[in-house]
Amino acid sequence: MASPFSGVLQLTDLDDFIGPSQDCIKPMKVDKRSGSGVAKIHIEDDGSYFQVTQDGGTRKLEKAKISLDDCLACSGCVTSAETVLITQQSHEELRKVIDANKTAAPGQQKLVVVSVSPQSRASLAAQFGLNPTDTARKLTAFFKKIGVHYVFDTSFSRNFSLLESQREFVQRFRGQAGSQQALPVLASACPGWICYAEKTHGSFLIPYLSTVRSPQQVMGSLVKDFFAQQQHLTPDSIYHVTVMPCYDKKLEASRPDFFSQDYQTRDVDCVVTTGEVFKLLEEEGISLSELEPAPLDSLCSSVSAQEPSSHRGGGSGGYLEHVFQHAARELFGIHVDEITYRPLRNKDFQEVTLEKEGQIVLHFAAAYGFRNIQNLVQKLKRGRCPYHYVEVMACPAGCLNGGGQLKAPNTPGKELLQRVETLYSMVRTEAPEDAPGIQELYRCWLQGEGSERAGRLLHTSYHAVEKASSSLGIRW
Ligand code: SF4
Repeated sequence: MASPFSGVLQLTDLDDFIGPSQDCIKPMKVDKRSGSGVAKIHIEDDGSYFQVTQDGGTRKLEKAKISLDDCLACSGCVTSAETVLITQQSHEELRKVIDANKTAAPGQQKLVVVSVSPQSRASLAAQFGLNPTDTARKLTAFFKKIGVHYVFDTSFSRNFSLLESQREFVQRFRGQAGSQQALPVLASACPGWICYAEKTHGSFLIPYLSTVRSPQQVMGSLVKDFFAQQQHLTPDSIYHVTVMPCYDKKLEASRPDFFSQDYQTRDVDCVVTTGEVFKLLEEEGISLSELEPAPLDSLCSSVSAQEPSSHRGGGSGGYLEHVFQHAARELFGIHVDEITYRPLRNKDFQEVTLEKEGQIVLHFAAAYGFRNIQNLVQKLKRGRCPYHYVEVMACPAGCLNGGGQLKAPNTPGKELLQRVETLYSMVRTEAPEDAPGIQELYRCWLQGEGSERAGRLLHTSYHAVEKASSSLGIRW
């Protein structure tokens, strides 16, 4: 099979090679001679890399072996089918578990649960020309048809991620006098960014990172802890799959922090991308649009979900918006209805301020894409970061543009992204504190807000990773 990267790339700057949805930055060593400004890389169909030399010849480039420890989560390598290294996390694995269930003795079967992200749903809706509610119902029908038992929506777990982020910010803002590293709080829902932070500036950046689990990992806690108890099952008898817009989520699910030693199981056993769900549909010979819709499942028996719900604040989860509005109210008694973003260097670096009596009292930013992340980190290192909170996302344009989302060969990327954004924003939004079932779960499952249990199941920690010596000339 031809590599999707076959052809010649022209790199005017190594930075052009950094970022999700682009080629992996690891496999090659590029000689960038001073003054030339351009390195030509030729990629053969078998995936070999050659540098085109100045005399027109070619030189085979060293190909690095990539393990999860090396990966910088740029989403490059794993977009190539030949180089998928995370074999435990693929749609084939989901199929294996479903097939094994068919022949397993009673009591030996796994309960298969799939949690779908709203970004993946929007991408599939665009692909099949459906609205988001029909997409959610038809996806539920599809998964149940192939042997999945329950299908949930990670917008539900995002309620907890948002509420915990609000609480954490207010606490750290109030405690800023006691710690130089209390602020800015850097959002941590994007594993691409976390991977970069831990591997390149570990001990410096970690104290600033929000400890709140991402919606995927809160869903992991909900399914393997709360839902397992409801079903009278142990966590290891549930096979939990998430459908996500990027490959980086596979790395996140594989973190040791989300593995139960007691039950030898992960909170999320397998992550499949939107593109892999599309492959599954193709392999089954099913078109989503032709399926009869099925009712949506709900994690709380007391809540019946008629249609999917979402949150305000954009396709990456709305962290900035929710934390900003909550902090304005809680810390300054100001009710903010609409957020006004001010673009800085580019549309992926924007800021929001709250003024009181002519003074800026809250200064937030959204920094998307590795160029803007590098910029942010430089500001922090120089002690010139004016922000109290930053929503950091590795993908330019955020999660709706993740490397695992569907591409449409005949539609320009920008147009497709706009369509996906429109579909995403069509879903009814609700404030996380008002979402049905949330307060009940805080009470019954977590033993109250701010409890030790809530800390353990809704938060996590980070670890600086020693830089491996590399001759690859990567400039971060
Ligand atoms: Fe994944 Fe979103 Fe981060 Fe992109 S921005 S790597 S889609 S979590």
